[in-house]
Amino acid sequence: MVKRPKSGRCVHCLQNVDNLTRDHVFPSAWYPDNTLENLQRWTVPSCKKCNEEYGRLEEDLLLRLGICICPEDANSSGISDKVLRSIDPESAKNRTDKRFRERKREKIKKELFQWKTMPTIGLHPNFGVQNNIYYPEYLTILISAEKLERLCHKIVRGITYITDKVFIEENSNIHFFTVDDKAARPILEDMKKNLVTYELPGIKVVRAMTSGNLNAGFYAIEIWGRLKMYAVVKPKKLSC
Ligand SMILES: [Zn+2]
Repeated sequence: MVKRPKSGRCVHCLQNVDNLTRDHVFPSAWYPDNTLENLQRWTVPSCKKCNEEYGRLEEDLLLRLGICICPEDANSSGISDKVLRSIDPESAKNRTDKRFRERKREKIKKELFQWKTMPTIGLHPNFGVQNNIYYPEYLTILISAEKLERLCHKIVRGITYITDKVFIEENSNIHFFTVDDKAARPILEDMKKNLVTYELPGIKVVRAMTSGNLNAGFYAIEIWGRLKMYAVVKPKKLSC
C-alpha cells in the first residue's frame, strides 16, 4: 500500500500543505562518515518545495565548504573525500556520470581564486590560513553569505521545532551574524547560565533563551567544529 503524504505545516515557510516531507535539519550528507547508521537524525516537517530548495542550497554549500576543510580533521571525517570524489571523473559509474563530474569540476575550478599572499579580509571566521599546514598555493572560493544565512535560519527553525514543537512565527525576526571565536566568547560567557547544548556528530547548537518567549533566543551553531554561525531571534516589535 502506498503511504499517503501527511498534511500539516512546514517548519520553514510556515504554510499548511498536503504533501509534508521530512527535512534533515543538519543536511544528511553533512554527517561525518563515522556517524552510527542507526543514530536518530534531526528531521522536521517541511513542504516539498522548501525541502528541494534546501537540498540544492546544501549541495552547493557542501561542495564549496568541503574543498576548504582539512581531510584529516576527525570532526568532518570523510566529508572532504566525498566532495572531491563528487568532482572526480575517475569515480564515475558510467559515461553520463563522468561527463557530469567533469563539468562540475571545470565549473568549480573556474571559481577558484589564486593568491600570492592570503587576503586578510572577506574570509569566513576559521576559514583563513590554519596553523601547522603547508600551503603550496593559496586558493579561495566564493561562498554565498545569503546561502549561509538561509542554512542558519533553517537550523534555528529546526532546533526550535524539535525541542519545543514551536514554529518561529512571522512576528519574529531571525538575525544572522558571523564573528570570530574571540568576539563570540564574551557573548557566550554572558549567557552561560541559560545555555542548552544540542549535539549530533558534525553539529553542535548552543541555545540561550533570553526570555520566556519560545520565539526569542540566541543560537550558536558549530558545524564540523569549524563553520560557526550565530543568530538572534526576537519579536519584530522589539526590533531596532
Ligand atoms: Zn515550506
